[in-house]
Amino acid sequence: MSGLDGLGFWRHPDFRAGFERYRDVAANRKPAKFLLARAIAIDAPLDASEDALWRELEAKTPAFVELWRGIAPGELPPPQRPNLLDLCRELAGRMLAHCDFCRWDCGVDRRRGAKLGACKLASGTRVSSYFHHPGEEWIYRGRLGSGTIFFTSCNMRCAFCQNGDISADKDNGAPVSARVLATMAWRLRAEGCHNVNWVGGEPTIHLHTIVEAIALLPEFEPDERDLAAALATKADWRAPYPAARAHADYRGCFNAPLLWNSNFFMSAPAMRLLRLLMDIWLPDFKFGPGRCAKELARTPWYWDTVTANLKLIHRWGEEFTIRHLVMPGHVDCCTRPVLQWIAREMPEAPVNVMDQYRPENFCDPHDARYDARYAPIARRPRRDEIQAAFRCARELGLRFESLSYERNTTGLRA
Ligand code: SF4
Repeated sequence: MSGLDGLGFWRHPDFRAGFERYRDVAANRKPAKFLLARAIAIDAPLDASEDALWRELEAKTPAFVELWRGIAPGELPPPQRPNLLDLCRELAGRMLAHCDFCRWDCGVDRRRGAKLGACKLASGTRVSSYFHHPGEEWIYRGRLGSGTIFFTSCNMRCAFCQNGDISADKDNGAPVSARVLATMAWRLRAEGCHNVNWVGGEPTIHLHTIVEAIALLPEFEPDERDLAAALATKADWRAPYPAARAHADYRGCFNAPLLWNSNFFMSAPAMRLLRLLMDIWLPDFKFGPGRCAKELARTPWYWDTVTANLKLIHRWGEEFTIRHLVMPGHVDCCTRPVLQWIAREMPEAPVNVMDQYRPENFCDPHDARYDARYAPIARRPRRDEIQAAFRCARELGLRFESLSYERNTTGLRA
């Protein structure tokens, strides 16, 4: 229905296999995970202790996975009450009281907001902008764009952040309720976007609002007030994208593949929730196992956290593509070990080796915030560095050319 299905890139061997479920949901042949989570009844009352709720999630996840793997086109088991989707929403809300959404595991009560964690956020969620993104990878942007929602702020501090206006300014954008967020997702999909792309900044730090919005989606119909509130941050509101219910319809319910576009610095509990909600994943994998994540992003435990989360989605049989940004002077310490790890652990994973690094934020000599400590990365990667990165990916036999070359800004090849 959304037109993604008929596009020529699916004939490419990198995409022919490995994205069947995403493609089926995008075409409304199969239901998104959140519709299936709604079909799994839970036994524990939602006011049970948090430990009991996690045990319930653990107990019901196998039934969910079995349903997800076996669902036939056109099928939709009836919703149960209460269900696994209710449980995800409840658990995300409980986590907010001792926040462990990400690996920082700050333990602060973000509902009270008296003490803040590394992301500096209380319970409020802000969206910087949302729109039909024409610049994501082929399989995400398709013809009508990826329905991208940019959340404000981040739990990492990359000195060169390419989205620094969003991630480094926590007051950017506009505050949103779960209902307004659901309206944004609804509108993007009704206008033909091929997926709902949760990104930032970083979406993980807004997990409670995102899960609450997802829980609203199955029967969601925004009213005039919702639509007006959501319009404030719609960057492409002038573009002629007529909304049509058919773009989002699966047996009378709202349907859309949900895409988790993240730095992958999530905690293990957050991963357990996301497993039940995300149809496709777009992990960022930037830094090698040395000190670079600490020195350039003030982020400890980076390598261990990101590789553990990547191993999880691989083991769970999820569909995903990995992004790696080539940073100047970091081919040997970051690019090479990252690509070698992928080749060893998940050699079939499609990888986008990105050549578009530019010095931004604290690394931009023309910016008032420039910090001379970052002088070594205050430049674009050299031609030989980009070529070395591509050559490394090729020698390792990675599936990278289809994703890396089509939006290649330097025009270089391995
Ligand atoms: S989202 Fe991460 S950084 Fe923010 S308070 Fe929670 S654990 Fe800390």
